[in-house]
Amino acid sequence: MIVTSQPSEFSELLEQARRAGRTVGLHPTMGALHAGHAANVRRAALECDLAAVTIFVNPLQFGPGEDFEAYPRDLGVDLELAEAAGAGVVFCPSTEAMYGRSPLVTVGVKGLAERWEGARRPGHFDGVATVVTKLFALAGPCTAYFGEKDYQQLVVVRRLVEDLSLPVRVEACPTVREADGLALSSRNRYLGPEEREEAPGLYWALLAGKRAIEEQGVADAALVVEEMHRAVRRQPLVELEYAAVVSPEDLEPVDEVSGPARLLIAGRVGLARLIDNVAAEKEDA
Ligand code: AMP
Repeated sequence: MIVTSQPSEFSELLEQARRAGRTVGLHPTMGALHAGHAANVRRAALECDLAAVTIFVNPLQFGPGEDFEAYPRDLGVDLELAEAAGAGVVFCPSTEAMYGRSPLVTVGVKGLAERWEGARRPGHFDGVATVVTKLFALAGPCTAYFGEKDYQQLVVVRRLVEDLSLPVRVEACPTVREADGLALSSRNRYLGPEEREEAPGLYWALLAGKRAIEEQGVADAALVVEEMHRAVRRQPLVELEYAAVVSPEDLEPVDEVSGPARLLIAGRVGLARLIDNVAAEKEDA
């Protein structure tokens, strides 16, 4: 596995691979890698000839008062995990290497990036879109693997690729969870023991909403959201920010569920702000 912090070397390695007829799979991350990232890297290594992982805690996607400084960083452990998962190249640039001069040009995302996470974290998706555009520009033509765990990010990245005609195929990776349902997240390490016990409450609430739609045939989205609220209230340490039933493509809230929908949830548990989501589908009556 080759590790580089130099943007030009990263570009050159991937370009060389393509020139040799190899396909490139890219998995952008912020490090603090866990089994979810590992599964995504394994998939990239399985489906492509060369799996490249990027590790960069992107300051542009953190707002004031968020956890940029505290965000866990442990490059040594990350490199071991990336290599064990089959990465051939790891790119871990410094902030200077990525944003040497403070950028005058950034990528802005309207509409769907202004809802849900975008509403609570103003500028977040502009920061994501800017770094992802830079990483795609450095990487060149590739298949990029993004987790469904960050569902809104996945939808934003798909639109970014479409709207800017970037030479990238985006693949969605299923969410990897702990045995009790908690979605793996680098931020789970902020949880104390009691908070850790209650944190899966976000997922259990999603499942309660999914059951309402799929097993009880509930079509009224307001009732589904109420069901999710009720489920979250059983975990007093979970402070709900939002629970929603949305269209899977544009993330607009739906009134009546018919066909495929996405259930989104976000909340705070102690110092951790956690998000999760599941698919749900209402069959025609
Ligand atoms: P992050 O390092 O948190 O920015 O995440 C990097 C990539 O890994 C993103 O595409 C995430 O959606 C994905 N990811 C994060 N958590 C999980 C998980 N539990 N299962 C699968 N993919 C994940």
